[in-house]
Amino acid sequence: MRPLQMVDTKTQYQAIKEEVDRAVLSVMESAMYIGGKTVNDFAANLGRYNGSKHVITCANGTDALQVAMMALGLRPGDEVITPSFTYIATVEVAALLHIKPVFAEVDPKTFCIDPAAIEKAITPRTKAIIPVHLYGHAANMEAIMDIANRHGLFVIEDGAQSIGCDVTFSNGTTKKTGAIGHIGCTSFYPSKNLGAFGDGGAIFTDDDALAAKMQMIAAHGQSRRYYHDVVGCNSRLDAIQAAILDIKLKYLDHYIAARRKAAAFYDAAFAQHDKIITPYTDTTYSNHVYHQYTLILKDTNRDALHQYLAEKGIPAMIYYPVPAHRQKMFDAFGGADHHLPVTDWLTERVISLPMHTELDEEQQSFISSGVLTFLNQ
Ligand SMILES: *Cc1c(COP(=O)(O)O)cnc(C)c1O
Repeated sequence: MRPLQMVDTKTQYQAIKEEVDRAVLSVMESAMYIGGKTVNDFAANLGRYNGSKHVITCANGTDALQVAMMALGLRPGDEVITPSFTYIATVEVAALLHIKPVFAEVDPKTFCIDPAAIEKAITPRTKAIIPVHLYGHAANMEAIMDIANRHGLFVIEDGAQSIGCDVTFSNGTTKKTGAIGHIGCTSFYPSKNLGAFGDGGAIFTDDDALAAKMQMIAAHGQSRRYYHDVVGCNSRLDAIQAAILDIKLKYLDHYIAARRKAAAFYDAAFAQHDKIITPYTDTTYSNHVYHQYTLILKDTNRDALHQYLAEKGIPAMIYYPVPAHRQKMFDAFGGADHHLPVTDWLTERVISLPMHTELDEEQQSFISSGVLTFLNQ
């Protein structure tokens, strides 16, 4: 059996090695390392894939969120409503800009922000909602856009884990995550569904003015060379990463299909088990791109299971062991004042199993029987 890993980027690379190596070498020979045609071509292809008019590439997903918040003109003291059950980057950049994160509860089925909780968290200082499409399943964007429109709020989608995920609206139309809110953000961190061989990120929008502003902010606030109109930052996707990502983008739907196949294997292995809740698969409004395959365990000592799996050579991860509102970082923002029982409940019970495009049935049988042996003992 091939060794088990949470993500097997090496085997994925082997399958497209020649194509990738050629593209990387050609960037090296072109000596266009920053910006230029390779980056522009990738941005155009990504925009087409995502159904987004503008794509601004940047250095990572965290910067994408920061540039988005800066472009919306959010000011110190403003509030943004986000889930606490997320990766820290979503909310860290808000705090960095002295914007107050107000944490809202998640739906325990989808792990994503609960629209009813957003409504309750709105105050006169609320400026934006930042839903996170956690693990590769979308938040309820139709309900969220409706709330945003009624209250005059911006929506920034954190789609770092959801590239390629389709959201279906009640009128039957479908859009990709990142193309629904005023701004969408994503990450090309190597383990993400569209992973670079280093860092990278992108920002989506259909709004011409916002796109121009974000382009400017990501490039030192520069309107034309050496003329700086606003305070910005320096956030670029380099050409080598863009060349690799442009190739991997062609395979993205194939990669998503491989993840779904792996998820279906796990779903079948764990079906009806009284101690396991498998990921939500009702695709009424969102399909699933399985960035993670995350179980909720009932009446189980999760840490003991984690330990047992580790001893058998089966990797597993807890995403995330501490919710944002309980991180020390947010003490100054009243993090611990939030009452989020669903978030706390999930945090104590989730466990993510290996999920990537190169899993085979032998590996998955070994992983799932490891889990089941522990639970049935
Ligand atoms: C990975 C991730 C980010 C940050 O992306 P980086 O490229 O690592 O900066 C933000 N939000 C979520 C939900 C993520 O999973």
